[in-house]
Amino acid sequence: MVYEDMLLSYRFASLCVVLAAAGAISCHGNGATPPDETDGSDTDTSVAADSELGDSNPGDSEPTDSQISDSDTGESDEPVFTGLWIIDTHAHILPTDADLNDAYIDDLMAAVQDAGVAHIALGLHARHIPDRPPTFSEQHDDWTLAAAEEYPDLILPMLAGFDPEDEASVDYVSTELATGHWRAIGELDLRNTPKQTTTPMNHPVMMEIYALAAVYDVPVMFHFEPCYGTDCVSGAAELDEAVTENPDTKFINAHSCPPNLMGNYPNLYCEFEVSNGNLPQSNIFDFIVLGTDIQNAQLNTPIGNMVDIPYGEVVDLIREKLADLDEADAQKLGTGNAEVLFGL
Ligand SMILES: [Zn+2]
Repeated sequence: MVYEDMLLSYRFASLCVVLAAAGAISCHGNGATPPDETDGSDTDTSVAADSELGDSNPGDSEPTDSQISDSDTGESDEPVFTGLWIIDTHAHILPTDADLNDAYIDDLMAAVQDAGVAHIALGLHARHIPDRPPTFSEQHDDWTLAAAEEYPDLILPMLAGFDPEDEASVDYVSTELATGHWRAIGELDLRNTPKQTTTPMNHPVMMEIYALAAVYDVPVMFHFEPCYGTDCVSGAAELDEAVTENPDTKFINAHSCPPNLMGNYPNLYCEFEVSNGNLPQSNIFDFIVLGTDIQNAQLNTPIGNMVDIPYGEVVDLIREKLADLDEADAQKLGTGNAEVLFGL
């Protein structure tokens, strides 16, 4: 399908969601579930997330109501979303005020559905307030999980409410992952200039947590500036050791796909954002997921030096990056890779 057709279908599907919300018509599922593949090459990874938060083995789960196609229910005439679905793998809660966060989550989930985003990964590691050190809090995970319980079909909860240099965090992460509630770990602020965090990527505590991520088969999204708080050579060596010595752990580099790293490790993935410019080379398409890094009550995202862009427009800009790809590659980057990584 050419992109213009995809976009037209996407616009139509958005209209469908709006009309359905008004009770005028019914759409496929809740308007947020990707349709089954239409080219006959359907795989398990093309279906939506299991709505059960507690499912720790989602690969062989039964289809949910929202996965049942209209043809199964005899309602075959309704329009369905046939555009290019996106999975947003990078979003944050607002940690400062519970009411504000609740309203933000509600608004964000409405925007997510309107934008043709099938799922959104949510979490928060270091909370940064100017003039004070970063704060790590298990409350971040409580709020993330509460949001995921309210929107189980949309939110992929990411575990992150722990101090990456505290040995006690290993037990915490182990206990939490054992619940089966978590789809990923991250985004971890390891070396992060705005957050003022300087945790070595190969810190002994983190090495134990990477091993746990492999056991529970959840990816680890990390923010790592190799030259922040150390020299660049040492920072690069930290990353190399962490990724190499944990070959069964799937790592996702947040925010960008560094050309000097990607393609060098079979277990290193990257999150492409619209501010990165052009897509990376096609030889690493199997390792790319997409994200917005949304964390703003007004649902605006700064992109480079541009003014803040509304969430739906950011997602449209992501789609534009995929517009010239063939359908299989666009689907892979839009949803397919993330479905595999997040166990959907
Ligand atoms: Zn982020």
